[in-house]
Amino acid sequence: MPELPVVVVGAGPVGLAAAAHLAARDLPVVVLEAGADAGAAVARWNHVRLFSTWSELVDPAAARLLAPTGWRQPAADSYPTGAEWVDRYLRPLAAALAPRVRFGARVVGLARRGRDRVVDGGRDTEPLTVHVRTASGDERITARAVVDASGTWGTPNPLGGDGLPAIGEPEAADRIAYRVPDLADPAERERYARQRIAVAGSGHSALTALVVLAELAEEHPDTRIDWLLRRGAVGTTFGGGDADQLPARGALGQRAMAAAAAGHVRTVTGFRTARVDREDSRLVLESVDGHRLDPVDEVVVLTGFRPDLAWLSEIRLDLDPVLQAPRGLAPLIDPNVHSCGTVYPHGVAELAQPEPGVYLVGMKSYGRAPTFLALTGYEQVRSVAAAIAGDHEAAARVELVLPETGVCGGAGLFDEPADDAGGCCAAPVDSALTRA
Ligand SMILES: Cc1cc2nc3c(=O)[nH]c(=O)nc-3n(C[C@H](O)[C@H](O)[C@H](O)COP(=O)(O)OP(=O)(O)OC[C@H]3O[C@@H](n4cnc5c(N)ncnc54)[C@H](O)[C@@H]3O)c2cc1C
Repeated sequence: MPELPVVVVGAGPVGLAAAAHLAARDLPVVVLEAGADAGAAVARWNHVRLFSTWSELVDPAAARLLAPTGWRQPAADSYPTGAEWVDRYLRPLAAALAPRVRFGARVVGLARRGRDRVVDGGRDTEPLTVHVRTASGDERITARAVVDASGTWGTPNPLGGDGLPAIGEPEAADRIAYRVPDLADPAERERYARQRIAVAGSGHSALTALVVLAELAEEHPDTRIDWLLRRGAVGTTFGGGDADQLPARGALGQRAMAAAAAGHVRTVTGFRTARVDREDSRLVLESVDGHRLDPVDEVVVLTGFRPDLAWLSEIRLDLDPVLQAPRGLAPLIDPNVHSCGTVYPHGVAELAQPEPGVYLVGMKSYGRAPTFLALTGYEQVRSVAAAIAGDHEAAARVELVLPETGVCGGAGLFDEPADDAGGCCAAPVDSALTRA
């Protein structure tokens, strides 16, 4: 089916890199992006500074595509914010790929043409049908292959300790945020200043939130922060400091540790939330073992993400039952095994699915594992694009060497690991907790 396009879902860093690799191989490609602009998910954390340098955030094929446009590569050793990643790289890249990128196009379904997932016949010969929702109505696009780079930003993990929303969590949505507060925004600053705030999570995002909220507490001493950890001890949560081969991550852990030591942050370990009750205008969080936290005004939940598999229900996937990542990839990224955040370059061999021509890549390919790096995604799509083009030698090659973090848990991961080892049996340490 060489005349049909490859559909890439998502114009984030990995989807756009996939398109650059496919375009470099002269394959027709359509990128479908639900948002109004490139990097729509990254733009939701515009204010967060990445722990990777620019040298680790630009895909090589994308750089080659951008070079003739007059694009200037940012200084390799500097750390952009999310906003800078979008402005200085993703948006120019989408422009260079035009007219292949369509915005306001949400993919709501994927199937083999005319066949639901039960039908065996034609799975190797029929093309794929992509169901798309736009402002002007629904449409279908016939595709030779689909590269799902839709990320996980839209499906954050809930506060509930068992992975389901806590009782009362949806009803308290006006007081619960699932992103790092942007305190450069006056409205958000006002929302959190002089408030008591519970921050749940133990990864890079949670540490970033602790640091910015502690800075706010310096300015407004009435601001109080309760840091909720599911694990039974802080342990390695602050990461490896100087030992981290991604120095910005190590430094963040050190800043969060300093914020805690300065008395702005009260740590509550072994707390797995079961319910959220409204008391007057405040929220009271209760743990699965019946401990109740002092009332808080705001809750910030930074406990990681999960993939949205709902629109993939009519195709055949082989996902790891724990991580919801492609089965071949899961052993390489399982946080229960690779607690030090070590990641391995991999490609189409690990990503291929029983459904011919369908590939999960980027952040979504990691399922619930919290160690994804953009560099890993760029290597994935280089390999996948080569496989789609029939260049099996290039698809099998590994062209990337990734940094090892040398850090176990915490700041070595940008969000909370699926498992919080050590937390199963410990009681909360906070004396202000009351028993329900
Ligand atoms: C706060 C934070 C900091 C991070 N810092 C780093 C770092 O320093 N270094 C690093 O290497 N990695 C970092 N990461 C991890 C990772 O590199 C980024 O999350 C990156 O944005 C993942 O790229 P992606 O293209 O896979 O997904 P995304 O960036 O999430 O892009 C997915 C795109 O798909 C679109 N989309 C979603 N669903 C649909 C649909 N159904 N139809 C059409 N479009 C859809 C979204 O709107 C979005 O634009 C960080 C992540 C977070 C959250």
